Amino acid sequence: MELVPTEITKCKYLFLDRDGVINVRIIGGYVTCKEEFAFIDGVLDAMSILAKHFDYIFLITNQQGIGKGLMTEDALAEIHKYMIDEIESHGGKMTKIYYCPYLASEHHPDRKPDIGMGLKAKHDFPEIDFKESVMVGDGITDIVFGKRLEMNTVYIGSDEDDSGADYCCSNLKEFADLFNH
Ligand SMILES: [Mg+2]
Repeated sequence: MELVPTEITKCKYLFLDRDGVINVRIIGGYVTCKEEFAFIDGVLDAMSILAKHFDYIFLITNQQGIGKGLMTEDALAEIHKYMIDEIESHGGKMTKIYYCPYLASEHHPDRKPDIGMGLKAKHDFPEIDFKESVMVGDGITDIVFGKRLEMNTVYIGSDEDDSGADYCCSNLKEFADLFNH
């Protein structure tokens, strides 16, 4: 495996994409209710390891299924309540969730790869230093989002990594194991 950049192991603030990182991504569709939300294997263990290392853990997620009328904000809140309950009952934590409900065609500044949700986190938690932050995602948009904020970036994927990220892991558990010692 490639050498882990020390900048990543020294980070204090973690920003996570959701679909494809925390839960199984529904290809060509959306998780519209908690029954459709399936944790990826090892994620709950990973979140417990990461909770010990990182001061804050944020979720940064595009959810244009809301803009498309495929689910309501209440349904998303219910999914996220279920997700947080499971994470916390396994020893993990989720400091705050930021989601963007707008359609890609609306070009809203909150929608990744634009940085609005990162700026909101910085507004809510001014102590965040993006240089001490790492963005973990399975999409190029996640890596671009992180780089625009001058964060460290980790790409999750088994495909060949052409994302330009600083580091690559096949899943969140593999990432968490970098901190498990
Ligand atoms: Mg994703």
